[in-house]
Amino acid sequence: MKRIGVLTSGGDSPGMNAAIRAVVRKAIYHDIEVYGIYYGYAGLISGNIQKLEVGSVGDIIHRGGTMLYTARCEEFRTEEGQLKGVEQLKKFGIEGLVVIGGDGSFQGAKKLTEHGFPTVGVPGTIDNDISGTDFTIGFDTALNTVIDAIDKIRDTATSHERTYVIEVMGRDAGDIALWSGLADGAETILIPEEKYDIDDVLKRLKRGHDRGKTHSIIVVAEGAASGVEIGKIIDERAGLETRVTVLGHIQRGGSPTASDRVLASRLGAYAVELLLDGEAGKMVGVQKNELVSHSFDDALKFEHKLDINMYNLSKELSI
Ligand code: ATP
Repeated sequence: MKRIGVLTSGGDSPGMNAAIRAVVRKAIYHDIEVYGIYYGYAGLISGNIQKLEVGSVGDIIHRGGTMLYTARCEEFRTEEGQLKGVEQLKKFGIEGLVVIGGDGSFQGAKKLTEHGFPTVGVPGTIDNDISGTDFTIGFDTALNTVIDAIDKIRDTATSHERTYVIEVMGRDAGDIALWSGLADGAETILIPEEKYDIDDVLKRLKRGHDRGKTHSIIVVAEGAASGVEIGKIIDERAGLETRVTVLGHIQRGGSPTASDRVLASRLGAYAVELLLDGEAGKMVGVQKNELVSHSFDDALKFEHKLDINMYNLSKELSI
């Protein structure tokens, strides 16, 4: 293999740049040329492709977002779109591809592999919802952004003796809500993986109130419930003055944490190693702090499992 490509796809996440840098530098270290494909699969289809040098990825390791930009591309879901992509790769003499993104992007990468094009996936998403890796690139940064916000909200919650509902990202996976709620001592955490009983939420609030608590924090994953709705119910049924904060896209941005930069560097470089070893059709990950790889077939078959012990622990610690 003499020339590889790299693209970012789906939602951006902090640390994608560090992963791009690792792919480019690791490849060039092995005398392999690297081409950057801009705007994900959309740029692949249209041929928005440029050569990257060592210097092209300088000064990006600490930056959020992705220097290659990202996109969602409906056309790539079709076989016609995928074949156009393979054609472009061949036109540019690219022999292997690294796709940095979430599980949707891996579906696309799997299709490229099925069309005979060697592709490796690097998990980049703040949701931490990809099975086959303990952590995805961007999760730790998003988590720290949420914690920073909750800490600030806690100050005002204490001063005003209010109940705060904080809605965080996580349509299908409750990892951001669970980890941030546990890290911030939230009274209640609502996640999509576990059914909740609003009466139980109210009971826990009342119990805290009765033992003299002056404020409460409730963390809600967007896929579990609407923070605004939960806030309204608490206000009306518990008679507690409640404020709602929907954190939104600030969770996607910011300079990646050390942990995400290191993870991205390890996974990006490992993806190149797999391509050079002829082991395509796989995603890379980290499990028990060891680098691992799984076929796209396996990785996409298994559902991501949230650590239910951690969820139970959060309940025990917030009595
Ligand atoms: P995030 O987890 O941040 O949402 P993602 O990678 O899961 O990231 P998606 O929007 O699901 O984001 O997917 C990104 C792109 O991958 C899609 O716009 C599409 O181009 C491609 N893709 C998704 N699913 C498929 C599929 N089944 N076949 C081919 N391509 C796909």
